[in-house]
Amino acid sequence: MPGEPQEDCLFCKIAEGHVPATIVRETKTTVAFQDINPQAPVHILVIPKAHYPNAAELATAAPELAADVLRETKEVADEQQLDSYRVVFNTGAGAGQTVFHAHAHVLGGRGMQWPPG
Ligand code: C5P
Repeated sequence: MPGEPQEDCLFCKIAEGHVPATIVRETKTTVAFQDINPQAPVHILVIPKAHYPNAAELATAAPELAADVLRETKEVADEQQLDSYRVVFNTGAGAGQTVFHAHAHVLGGRGMQWPPG
């Protein structure tokens, strides 16, 4: 069922508290935690607690939850006092997605290049 926890999903386990993570914010529907391999001075992931494999499926199946995730990226950026920052949803292996539970990267604290690699 869409949204149900997946046994083999790392981010479901983080959301359930079964795998440790440095959590910086939590709401009823989302968790934000430090990326284990930061690509910028601030690199925080925002995930929905419910399991959707990527941002596209989240947006289609649960648009209010997608909005919760997006709202939380703003709250994270405010808490981290970021004036400029980047929000990235890698969607699909070809775009660099390695964990197939929807997540937003919030990256900031340094200058950014465009286009990204
Ligand atoms: O967009 P992508 O799927 O590649 O992002 C997954 C992210 O999850 C990576 O930035 C990786 O460093 C992070 N990660 C993590 N904690 C883990 C495993 C992966 O923060 N235990």
